Amino acid sequence: MTRRRIVLPGIIALGSNLGDRVGILSEAVRQIRDIAGITVTAVSGLVESHAVKPQGTDASSPDYLNAVVLVQSALHPEQLLVELGAIESRLGRVREERWGDRTLDLDIISFGPLRIDSESLTLPHPRAWERPFVIVPWLQIEPDAVLAGHGRIDALPAARSSEVWDFDSGSLFGRLD
Ligand code: ATP
Ligand code: CA
Ligand code: CA
Repeated sequence: MTRRRIVLPGIIALGSNLGDRVGILSEAVRQIRDIAGITVTAVSGLVESHAVKPQGTDASSPDYLNAVVLVQSALHPEQLLVELGAIESRLGRVREERWGDRTLDLDIISFGPLRIDSESLTLPHPRAWERPFVIVPWLQIEPDAVLAGHGRIDALPAARSSEVWDFDSGSLFGRLD
Protein backbone atom coordinates (compact mmCIF):
# COMPACT_ATOMS: atom_id res chain seq x y z
CA MET A 1 0.00 0.00 0.00
CA THR A 2 1.32 3.45 -0.82
CA ARG A 3 1.11 6.09 1.88
CA ARG A 4 -0.57 9.30 0.72
CA ARG A 5 1.48 12.45 1.26
CA ILE A 6 -0.42 15.32 2.80
CA VAL A 7 0.44 18.56 1.05
CA LEU A 8 -0.75 21.87 2.49
CA PRO A 9 -0.35 25.45 1.30
CA GLY A 10 1.84 27.72 3.40
CA ILE A 11 2.75 31.40 3.46
CA ILE A 12 6.33 32.33 4.33
CA ALA A 13 7.31 35.96 4.99
CA LEU A 14 10.87 37.12 4.26
CA GLY A 15 12.56 40.23 5.60
CA SER A 16 16.03 41.77 5.48
CA ASN A 17 17.49 45.07 6.65
CA LEU A 18 21.24 44.39 6.61
CA GLY A 19 23.68 43.77 3.77
CA ASP A 20 22.72 43.19 0.13
CA ARG A 21 19.02 42.93 0.89
CA VAL A 22 17.86 42.03 -2.64
CA GLY A 23 20.65 39.48 -3.07
CA ILE A 24 19.91 37.90 0.32
CA LEU A 25 16.15 37.69 -0.30
CA SER A 26 16.55 36.19 -3.75
CA GLU A 27 19.06 33.65 -2.42
CA ALA A 28 16.59 32.83 0.39
CA VAL A 29 13.81 32.16 -2.15
CA ARG A 30 16.21 29.95 -4.10
CA GLN A 31 17.07 27.99 -0.94
CA ILE A 32 13.40 27.64 0.05
CA ARG A 33 12.75 26.26 -3.42
CA ASP A 34 15.52 23.72 -2.83
CA ILE A 35 14.02 22.29 0.40
CA ALA A 36 12.91 18.70 -0.26
CA GLY A 37 9.13 18.53 0.03
CA ILE A 38 8.57 22.24 -0.69
CA THR A 39 7.33 23.73 -3.94
CA VAL A 40 7.30 27.51 -4.30
CA THR A 41 4.19 28.44 -6.29
CA ALA A 42 4.23 32.26 -6.09
CA VAL A 43 6.63 35.03 -5.09
CA SER A 44 5.44 38.57 -4.32
CA GLY A 45 7.15 41.77 -5.29
CA LEU A 46 9.35 43.60 -2.79
CA VAL A 47 8.07 46.19 -0.35
CA GLU A 48 10.17 48.53 1.76
CA SER A 49 9.42 50.00 5.19
CA HIS A 50 11.08 51.56 8.20
CA ALA A 51 12.28 49.21 10.94
CA VAL A 52 9.95 48.60 13.87
CA LYS A 53 11.52 48.18 17.31
CA PRO A 54 9.75 47.37 20.60
CA GLN A 55 9.56 51.17 21.17
CA GLY A 56 7.96 51.82 17.76
CA THR A 57 9.03 52.84 14.26
CA ASP A 58 12.77 53.52 14.03
CA ALA A 59 13.72 55.46 10.91
CA SER A 60 17.35 55.64 12.10
CA SER A 61 17.83 51.87 11.61
CA PRO A 62 18.27 50.52 8.08
CA ASP A 63 14.98 50.09 6.22
CA TYR A 64 13.55 46.63 5.62
CA LEU A 65 12.80 44.89 2.38
CA ASN A 66 10.05 42.29 2.67
CA ALA A 67 8.39 39.74 0.43
CA VAL A 68 6.06 36.78 0.79
CA VAL A 69 6.15 33.40 -0.89
CA LEU A 70 3.38 30.86 -1.30
CA VAL A 71 4.46 27.22 -1.01
CA GLN A 72 2.96 23.78 -1.18
CA SER A 73 4.49 21.80 1.66
CA ALA A 74 4.75 18.09 2.24
CA LEU A 75 6.73 18.89 5.41
CA HIS A 76 5.18 19.37 8.81
CA PRO A 77 5.45 23.07 9.74
CA GLU A 78 7.83 22.29 12.62
CA GLN A 79 10.16 20.63 10.08
CA LEU A 80 9.74 23.58 7.75
CA LEU A 81 10.67 25.97 10.60
CA VAL A 82 13.91 24.03 11.17
CA GLU A 83 14.75 24.28 7.46
CA LEU A 84 14.00 28.02 7.45
CA GLY A 85 16.21 28.51 10.51
CA ALA A 86 19.07 26.78 8.68
CA ILE A 87 18.62 29.16 5.72
CA GLU A 88 18.64 32.15 8.11
CA SER A 89 21.92 30.90 9.61
CA ARG A 90 23.54 30.27 6.24
CA LEU A 91 22.65 33.79 5.18
CA GLY A 92 24.25 35.35 8.22
CA ARG A 93 21.39 35.76 10.73
CA VAL A 94 22.62 36.62 14.22
CA ARG A 95 20.08 36.70 17.06
CA GLU A 96 20.63 39.55 19.47
CA GLU A 97 18.01 41.95 20.81
CA ARG A 98 14.29 41.51 20.07
CA TRP A 99 13.41 42.75 16.57
CA GLY A 100 17.09 43.63 16.08
CA ASP A 101 18.53 44.39 12.63
CA ARG A 102 19.05 41.22 10.62
CA THR A 103 20.28 39.95 7.28
CA LEU A 104 17.32 37.59 7.03
CA ASP A 105 14.13 36.74 8.89
CA LEU A 106 11.89 33.91 7.71
CA ASP A 107 8.51 33.51 9.42
CA ILE A 108 5.75 31.03 8.72
CA ILE A 109 2.59 33.10 8.51
CA SER A 110 -0.03 30.45 7.91
CA PHE A 111 -0.08 26.80 7.04
CA GLY A 112 -3.31 25.39 5.60
CA PRO A 113 -5.97 25.26 8.29
CA LEU A 114 -3.51 24.43 11.07
CA ARG A 115 -3.58 26.22 14.39
CA ILE A 116 -0.53 25.48 16.51
CA ASP A 117 0.73 26.93 19.77
CA SER A 118 3.89 25.04 20.70
CA GLU A 119 7.05 26.32 22.35
CA SER A 120 8.74 26.87 18.99
CA LEU A 121 5.84 27.63 16.67
CA THR A 122 2.62 29.65 16.72
CA LEU A 123 0.32 29.39 13.71
CA PRO A 124 -1.07 31.48 12.26
CA HIS A 125 1.71 33.97 13.10
CA PRO A 126 0.14 36.06 15.89
CA ARG A 127 1.35 39.47 14.66
CA ALA A 128 0.97 39.00 10.89
CA TRP A 129 -2.52 40.53 10.75
CA GLU A 130 -1.28 43.98 11.84
CA ARG A 131 1.88 44.08 9.70
CA PRO A 132 1.63 45.96 6.41
CA PHE A 133 4.96 44.44 5.31
CA VAL A 134 3.31 40.99 5.43
CA ILE A 135 -0.26 41.77 4.35
CA VAL A 136 0.55 44.04 1.37
CA PRO A 137 2.89 41.60 -0.45
CA TRP A 138 0.66 38.64 0.49
CA LEU A 139 -2.29 40.33 -1.21
CA GLN A 140 -0.25 40.64 -4.41
CA ILE A 141 -0.05 36.87 -4.77
CA GLU A 142 -3.30 35.80 -3.05
CA PRO A 143 -5.96 38.52 -3.31
CA ASP A 144 -8.68 36.34 -1.74
CA ALA A 145 -6.54 35.08 1.16
CA VAL A 146 -8.08 34.53 4.57
CA LEU A 147 -6.09 34.63 7.81
CA ALA A 148 -7.59 32.32 10.43
CA GLY A 149 -9.17 34.41 13.18
CA HIS A 150 -9.00 37.65 11.15
CA GLY A 151 -10.99 37.01 7.98
CA ARG A 152 -10.13 38.25 4.51
CA ILE A 153 -6.77 39.99 4.51
CA ASP A 154 -7.94 42.62 2.01
CA ALA A 155 -10.28 43.92 4.74
CA LEU A 156 -7.49 44.44 7.31
CA PRO A 157 -6.27 48.02 8.00
CA ALA A 158 -2.73 46.80 7.26
CA ALA A 159 -3.79 46.24 3.63
CA ARG A 160 -4.19 50.00 3.15
CA SER A 161 -1.21 51.22 5.14
CA SER A 162 1.10 53.95 3.85
CA GLU A 163 3.90 52.52 6.04
CA VAL A 164 5.14 50.30 3.19
CA TRP A 165 6.05 51.28 -0.34
CA ASP A 166 6.86 49.29 -3.46
CA PHE A 167 10.54 48.66 -4.05
CA ASP A 168 11.28 48.11 -7.69
CA SER A 169 14.27 45.94 -8.45
CA GLY A 170 12.61 43.41 -10.70
CA SER A 171 10.86 40.42 -9.21
CA LEU A 172 12.75 37.93 -7.06
CA PHE A 173 11.59 35.27 -9.52
CA GLY A 174 13.37 37.19 -12.26
CA ARG A 175 16.63 36.67 -10.38
CA LEU A 176 16.12 33.02 -9.46
CA ASP A 177 17.86 31.25 -12.32
P1 ATP B 1 8.24 38.21 15.30
O1 ATP B 1 7.85 36.80 15.69
O2 ATP B 1 7.52 39.27 16.08
O3 ATP B 1 8.15 38.43 13.81
P2 ATP B 1 11.08 37.78 15.08
O4 ATP B 1 10.77 37.18 13.75
O5 ATP B 1 12.11 38.85 15.13
O6 ATP B 1 9.74 38.37 15.74
P3 ATP B 1 12.71 35.64 15.91
O7 ATP B 1 13.79 36.05 16.86
O8 ATP B 1 13.07 35.49 14.46
O9 ATP B 1 11.49 36.64 16.07
O10 ATP B 1 12.07 34.26 16.36
C1 ATP B 1 11.80 33.96 17.69
C2 ATP B 1 11.15 32.58 17.77
O11 ATP B 1 9.83 32.63 17.25
C3 ATP B 1 11.81 31.51 16.95
O12 ATP B 1 12.82 30.88 17.68
C4 ATP B 1 10.66 30.55 16.61
O13 ATP B 1 10.77 29.33 17.30
C5 ATP B 1 9.44 31.29 17.11
N1 ATP B 1 8.25 31.24 16.26
C6 ATP B 1 6.98 31.03 16.76
N2 ATP B 1 6.07 31.03 15.78
C7 ATP B 1 6.76 31.25 14.62
C8 ATP B 1 6.34 31.35 13.25
N3 ATP B 1 5.06 31.24 12.91
N4 ATP B 1 7.30 31.58 12.33
C9 ATP B 1 8.61 31.70 12.69
N5 ATP B 1 9.07 31.60 13.95
C10 ATP B 1 8.14 31.38 14.92
CA1 CA C 1 9.51 38.21 12.07
CA1 CA D 1 11.41 35.18 12.84
